[in-house]
Amino acid sequence: MEQIRKVALAYYKESSDETKEHVKKLFKKIDADGNRKVSLDEFNEYCRRKSKKLPKHCFNELDKNGDGFLDFEEIIVFFYIIQTRTISCSGCGSLVMGMYFTCAICFYTETSVNHNLCCSCHQSGKSAGCEHSNLVDNYALLQGIKTTVKTKKIADKAGEFVVEKIEEWAAETLQDKSEDLLDAVDDAIEAVDDLLDALDNACIFM
Ligand SMILES: [Zn+2]
Ligand SMILES: [Zn+2]
Repeated sequence: MEQIRKVALAYYKESSDETKEHVKKLFKKIDADGNRKVSLDEFNEYCRRKSKKLPKHCFNELDKNGDGFLDFEEIIVFFYIIQTRTISCSGCGSLVMGMYFTCAICFYTETSVNHNLCCSCHQSGKSAGCEHSNLVDNYALLQGIKTTVKTKKIADKAGEFVVEKIEEWAAETLQDKSEDLLDAVDDAIEAVDDLLDALDNACIFM
């Protein structure tokens, strides 16, 4: 959580006025009684209303100074989590905070449902909810995506090259054929000329 906290505060510092305003509004919304601090009850009520299932002890971990309430800075961290941690564990249903495992087959083939496991569910051997056993961690997945993008780029380039070559070949062939055709037309014109000459000559003798 300490790492997430640092990143969240850095993001907040760099964020637009609009985002800052948004976080202030969120704080007011969660702080139902308006006493400028969020109690566990208020926090749970908000998560229930928004159907956000956070890992157990999330409130305690967010509450850095341990006073039993979340202040504005601690809500900034919460805001960052709900904005960026949108993957939930198929084992326990909680939002995944850190490293996680995902089924690579479902990730690449299913568009709507992905099968993920948080670290502790993965360790305890829970199922990701599909019939596959190809779980990879999120870093490996990212690397896989990079490779896929690279492969696709190479394939696209190869495809473009082939199309280019076919077009060149077609243009050349067409040119050859049209030259043949022009030659044939020239021959035909010559033949007609010869015929006309022959007719003229024939007329002279008639
Ligand atoms: Zn889990
Ligand atoms: Zn799967």
